[in-house]
Amino acid sequence: MEPLQALRKIFQEAGELSSADELLHLIVARVKETTRSDVCSIYLADEERDDWVLVATEGLASTAVGKVRMPTGEGLVGHICKHQSLLSLKDGSKHPSYRYFPESGEEHFAGFLGVPVISFRKIIGVLVIQNKGTRCFSAEEEAFLITIAAQLAGPLKTVLTQEKLSALTTVETSDQIKVQGIKGASGISIGRVHYLRAFKDLSTVKDQLCEDEDAEIVAFKGALESVKLEIQAGGDKIESSVSQDVHALFGVYLMMLDNDMIVNETESRIREGLTASSALKHTIEKHAQEFDQMDDVYLRARAEDIRHLGARIYARLNAHVSAGSLSADMPEEPFILVAKSLSITEIAQFAVDNLVGIVCMEGSSLSHTAVLANALGVTAVMGIGDISRKKIDQRLAVMDGYRAQVIFNATDLMQQEYRRLIAQEKKLVRGLDKLKDLPAETTDNHRVNLYANTGLLADISPGLERGAEGVGLYRSEIPFMLHDTFPTEDEQTKIYGEVLKAYAPRSVYMRTLDIGGDKALPYFGFTEENPYLGWRGIRFTLDNGSIFLTQIRALLRANVGIENMKIMLPMVSRIEEVDAFRSLLDEAIAQLKEEGFKVLRPSVGIMIEVPSAMMILEHLAKRVDFISIGSNDLTQYLLAVDRNNPKVSSLYNFLNPAVIYSIHRIVRIAHQYRLKVSLCGEMGTDPAAVLLLLGMGIDTLSMSAFNLPKIKWVIRTFSLKRAESLLTKVLALESEESIREVLEAELMQAGLGGLIRAGS
Ligand code: PEP
Ligand code: MG
Repeated sequence: MEPLQALRKIFQEAGELSSADELLHLIVARVKETTRSDVCSIYLADEERDDWVLVATEGLASTAVGKVRMPTGEGLVGHICKHQSLLSLKDGSKHPSYRYFPESGEEHFAGFLGVPVISFRKIIGVLVIQNKGTRCFSAEEEAFLITIAAQLAGPLKTVLTQEKLSALTTVETSDQIKVQGIKGASGISIGRVHYLRAFKDLSTVKDQLCEDEDAEIVAFKGALESVKLEIQAGGDKIESSVSQDVHALFGVYLMMLDNDMIVNETESRIREGLTASSALKHTIEKHAQEFDQMDDVYLRARAEDIRHLGARIYARLNAHVSAGSLSADMPEEPFILVAKSLSITEIAQFAVDNLVGIVCMEGSSLSHTAVLANALGVTAVMGIGDISRKKIDQRLAVMDGYRAQVIFNATDLMQQEYRRLIAQEKKLVRGLDKLKDLPAETTDNHRVNLYANTGLLADISPGLERGAEGVGLYRSEIPFMLHDTFPTEDEQTKIYGEVLKAYAPRSVYMRTLDIGGDKALPYFGFTEENPYLGWRGIRFTLDNGSIFLTQIRALLRANVGIENMKIMLPMVSRIEEVDAFRSLLDEAIAQLKEEGFKVLRPSVGIMIEVPSAMMILEHLAKRVDFISIGSNDLTQYLLAVDRNNPKVSSLYNFLNPAVIYSIHRIVRIAHQYRLKVSLCGEMGTDPAAVLLLLGMGIDTLSMSAFNLPKIKWVIRTFSLKRAESLLTKVLALESEESIREVLEAELMQAGLGGLIRAGS
């Protein structure tokens, strides 16, 4: 088999496997086969024991797995690691580093070729092939093994993070599975896993003839009614805890199900002899395809809804417990929803007191799923990759939302540890409640404003309850994401007005529509090769002038008589964008005045999220009234790290010196131009980072409401002077690790050690 073909085959087969053990065995079997060798083995580093252990082999005695251990630096494996390079030997036993392990039966093999498996510049394993008798490996064979090792670095790294090495090397494997994902929403939770299986794709249902038409029709109608009731019940259940926008989605689904055509057409197909499932497939596909053909993007998106509903009816018909299994089956103890991905409607259906966590195999930290989880105060971890239902469903899991980790089938000891952390956190929060009405002021009387980030109407009260002094970032794309068409000017005016009123006279910084990247509108789909460098934020709105003008008009109208609104522009990367916005603002003000509205010109500011904006800040500063740093995007663009890509997300760190220098520069220049600076990204929720921001003289920090008390505590514990000298010290440091170490030592010393976990 061709090497590339072999590789492709390994990855294809790997996709169907559910355990690390299976993956390792697949690799050794396929590599042995492809290289026509007699043995293929993998050794992994066991850092706890400081040695290299055989974890999988095809050819050596299987009983040697877990037993053959090479102390670091010894044996041929040790030689490969020491020299970080391939070792090709006609007869391995003649090499001075050779060590003999009787349990492996290795004495029969002479030809040896081993290559290191390197991930992020660190050797994590060694891949070895061996031959009976002597063998000189060719340059092509060596190149093949190097290629395989390079390709396997990723999966092997995942194996190492997902499963304890001891689980791979001992017979009594513990079934605890630890996975690393991407941060969705902070918090620590323990709950029983409620695994939502993806609906079966209805279009794959085979055509089958029925025996009893009447019985099939009764079954179909029963299933349809149950789905209607489920959706109704789901909607009723969450009505009080989510905003009207989210709730309205349930109405859309019900309307679709009430459509007579679906019922009549399915019935007549059953009368023609098909089973209810086959008949349903044809009806749903026909209607979905009609929507697929439409020019209008909104109507095209309805095809997905129709298929989703069809799949739900099918699931009921076949009595599957499946995604969207509803209120009737609502778990009565704390539970964690685990699914490939979750729609807002699905989360909303489960958004009850017992829902303590959300885990998505796909998805990103800025997706609407994560946004909703934050608003509901539910821990969320996204993008953990595939995990087998069999292994985790209905079993206990613990989640650490701060570190984006989930431990499925957690041992008693692990649960105990996490219960202790939850209790500690509760105690901390109770203590922090007392700070609600106190100012965020340092011990030497330097005042910082603490604002809330919001976007859902459901978010308003948590912010106010926790003492937010205003809204520092209103993510206006969220109501757009929850709607099923572009909201009208009146609808927008109403939504914005509610936020402005609730906070008046406190300031509300309304950010104009920021879609693109991973924030998509269900009714305005477009695909791009490189969405983060594409049609995002202000680029999108300026190119869609009428959508933008409608939003600006709605913002201005909502502010009439309240007058606490400021407008903030996302993703600005050039001065022309600010100038173009100013013209649109002038236009909107002129139009509204002519229509008799008493509109005022609001302050206008920009978010600094793109490195180019930081570099031309002097020019931008002359054009705006304030600056807000979007540290989430700024970090991502400065470090060229997609924070939603698990392969590189470990490199995403706002304590990177490059990020710290940049933010320091932004604050300095903004202050030179007498502009106030806020920071509204995740960085402002990390107590360690807040010490630096304080030292830089940041004016405002804006964050999700749940983080406000914690950050207020940090500010009230420190003096500006101490923060300034800490900043000077940190500016001289070279690495993220050393910076965090210094900052955390400072937090510990100040008696804020309890906050360290919550920040890291
Ligand atoms: C940011 O980029 O830091 C920010 C606050 O904007 P968002 O997270 O909505 O992209
Ligand atoms: Mg941003």
